Amino acid sequence: MTGTRYQTDALIIGGGVIGCAIAYELAKAGVKALVLEKETLGSQSTRAGAGMLGAQVEMMEPGPFFELGIKSRALFPNLQEELRELSGIDMELQTPGIFRVAVDEADRAALLARQSWQTAAGQRAVWFEDEELRSELGDLLTPKFGALYLPDDHQVRNPQLLLALAASAKRLGVQFIEQTAMVGFLEENGAVVGVKTIEGEVRANRVILAAGAWTGLIANQLGLELPIYPVRGQSFLLDSFAPPTPFTIYTHGCYILPKRNGQVYVGATEEPQAGFDRRPNLRSLAVLSTQAINLFPSIGQLPFAAPLAGLRPGSRDGLPFLGPVPGIEGLYLASGHFRNGVLLSAITGRVIAELLTGNAPSVDLTPFAVDRKVVPQTADTTPTHSI
Ligand SMILES: Cc1cc2nc3c(=O)[nH]c(=O)nc-3n(C[C@H](O)[C@H](O)[C@H](O)COP(=O)(O)OP(=O)(O)OC[C@H]3O[C@@H](n4cnc5c(N)ncnc54)[C@H](O)[C@@H]3O)c2cc1C
Repeated sequence: MTGTRYQTDALIIGGGVIGCAIAYELAKAGVKALVLEKETLGSQSTRAGAGMLGAQVEMMEPGPFFELGIKSRALFPNLQEELRELSGIDMELQTPGIFRVAVDEADRAALLARQSWQTAAGQRAVWFEDEELRSELGDLLTPKFGALYLPDDHQVRNPQLLLALAASAKRLGVQFIEQTAMVGFLEENGAVVGVKTIEGEVRANRVILAAGAWTGLIANQLGLELPIYPVRGQSFLLDSFAPPTPFTIYTHGCYILPKRNGQVYVGATEEPQAGFDRRPNLRSLAVLSTQAINLFPSIGQLPFAAPLAGLRPGSRDGLPFLGPVPGIEGLYLASGHFRNGVLLSAITGRVIAELLTGNAPSVDLTPFAVDRKVVPQTADTTPTHSI
């Protein structure tokens, strides 16, 4: 089928947490928007993700990325209220905080250094020695080197956040088309004016690529070389009526998050070598469960609920790409959020909406510009959580 099927102002490719957050903010700003999703909303990386708003636990150094995370985290309490009011859906924001448990002397030293720069940057970060940690966390096995407590790093339940964003955006007029992939761009005089799907064309004044790990492949159709690539992450859910702790416990290679619905989320592997294969496998889940039981033995008794796997949108320098694509009128990028797309969804939605409505973005987007010089992360700076 050919011909124009839909016409919109802003067309968002990808209905993950990033695409839906952009759709919501655009709708709030009065922009007519449409989301095109090749499968179902939130069914990819967003569904597999843990939901940590880890603006401190995930950040290895001060700088623009850290500041972006802090700004985004601060938006969630209000966002939760707004979305609940519009959609009746609660993203299940939980605020007891995250313990980052040290695994050895080197890890302890790095965490103490992190405490000092994060405190200097005005964030709360409290050191717990082992005795205090045991009295707070009970049967946690690993602590021999202390832990950094980050009381302001929160978490949400991803499927709930996604539903709340999509339902609110829909309520404000956003159109969603699922089970329909974009297969090519519509171009006129060097500008992108829409996309092709097998169901027909979707024409738009602006197109925003928010297709997660697939964004690089899509941009390639225009001859763009984007350093965005899939990084498979595996995790699993356990059933529990009363999770063993209200805190998120995070250590090298493994973290445990108690969810408000009673389930316990255990994550996560980091497997760039898997390419676009998003199936979970027994070996990775076996290693991850051993790590989790070593960290927190009581969870070994909990019934297994489900394995999860998703492709994080990795970026070679660890930073997302946010903003217009220079030289291609009408095309914008919002992708490459890697391990922190849920955390960064709120600020991403906001800045893309600001750009599209002609307002100055509330964050300096220079470090995240599409045409920045990408300096690949070294082994030392890449967070190592692979197994
Ligand atoms: C195991 C694991 C744990 C994680 N934990 C956390 C965490 O605790 N905190 C955090 O902040 N982040 C976490 N993340 C990362 C986070 O989930 C991602 O950064 C985020 O979901 C990316 O969102 P997205 O919308 O860019 O991508 P996705 O959710 O993958 O959405 C992209 C969408 O684009 C669609 N698409 C692709 N190609 C096309 C096409 N041609 N046409 C139409 N649609 C298309 C896809 O079907 C998909 O639905 C985790 C990820 C994993 C895998």
